[in-house]
Amino acid sequence: MKILVINSGSSSIKFQLIDMAGESVLAAGLVERIGEKEGFIQCTLKPGTDEKQMVMSQEFIADHQSGMRMAVDILTDPDTGIISDRADISGVGHRVVHGGEDFYQPTLITDDVLAAIERNIPLAPLHNPPNLDGIRVARELFPGVEQIAVFDTAFHQSIPPHAYHYALPHELYEEQRIRRYGFHGTSHNYVAAECARLMGKPLEELNLITIHLGNGCSMTAIKNGRSVDTTLGFTPLEGLVMGTRSGDIDPAIHSFLARNCGMDIEAIDTMLNKDSGLKGLCGMNDMRDIHEQISHGNERARLALEVQTYRNRKYVGAFMAVLGRVDAIVFTAGIGENDPVVRSKTLEGLELFGIMLDPDVNNQRVKEPLLLSDPASRVQVWGIPTNEELAIAREVKSLLGR
Ligand code: AMP
Repeated sequence: MKILVINSGSSSIKFQLIDMAGESVLAAGLVERIGEKEGFIQCTLKPGTDEKQMVMSQEFIADHQSGMRMAVDILTDPDTGIISDRADISGVGHRVVHGGEDFYQPTLITDDVLAAIERNIPLAPLHNPPNLDGIRVARELFPGVEQIAVFDTAFHQSIPPHAYHYALPHELYEEQRIRRYGFHGTSHNYVAAECARLMGKPLEELNLITIHLGNGCSMTAIKNGRSVDTTLGFTPLEGLVMGTRSGDIDPAIHSFLARNCGMDIEAIDTMLNKDSGLKGLCGMNDMRDIHEQISHGNERARLALEVQTYRNRKYVGAFMAVLGRVDAIVFTAGIGENDPVVRSKTLEGLELFGIMLDPDVNNQRVKEPLLLSDPASRVQVWGIPTNEELAIAREVKSLLGR
């Protein structure tokens, strides 16, 4: 069974073709700068094998449809031998950012489902429209092939009302659906399942804190295998300090900026999403650059690291209180997998809570799942590489098999 996974963004499409027998990646690619003067498509065929081959081309890519067509041409090129025909694909899985309150699980796409994703556009105006573009194009290019939507928000639909309600006038929830939804659900779900497998226990018996630290950052409290709280909220802006997003701030800062700094709502929104977080604090949003600058004595870079890791630690404490008993903490995504300093500063001083890293193991980058905690640590600490594409492909396989 071969499954195509599509993550369609505003000007890019990421795709992976996965052979579910052995879960091997047959092709992984990226179409970038769609609609811009010079587009770019890159695809690695059979990555990680001796037959690995890279295909690249730089040309104008008018829209998502042309981009997707180019990707399919690469996959069906007789010279590459990846697939002989589009009909070789059993299902297409789409990452969809916001399922609102409509979707609790991966869903077979019908016209009604498309309409529901469209209804949720106001909740994710930047993400749901390009996700829909990807679905429409794939439906055209693969007629008769099942299309499945996997929602970033679905895993968090188990969060109870006391954790998802904001203390705002209730009509805002009833009329506008303003509540906490949570994101990165596919990643949290995937690493939680991996952690359970590695610990040799059923996920339903485990309490976990999963920490996704990449350009976007979020932490989830998982009780008996289900999400009970998470740091991202109504939009992917709340909670932890991210690459360019602020995370938690006092909501009164909005009105202060409007009254005293003449900023309108668009400018404030852009500032909080694009010019805040690590970038706002020190001008850099890549943790590798921040470490480099710290080594040169850059104090703002040090401050950015301190602010991010302090916020992480504060939420670890909060989620320990939410869960009562924690069996394991899992780090994942670009920073979580690669940055021993962020991991150790995040868990610094938590020995009394039964959390102890093994400094030698923690000093490594996580390429394969790695137990980072000291054997004496009551709470296990794991580094587990996330793999959202594989997680989506597994969901598609399981839905098609039902
Ligand atoms: P992601 O969104 O998961 O792709 O993560 C991207 C982020 O991971 C980058 O912006 C970097 O801040 C961080 N990152 C990637 N590689 C490293 C590394 N070797 N050390 C520290 N941070 C890294």
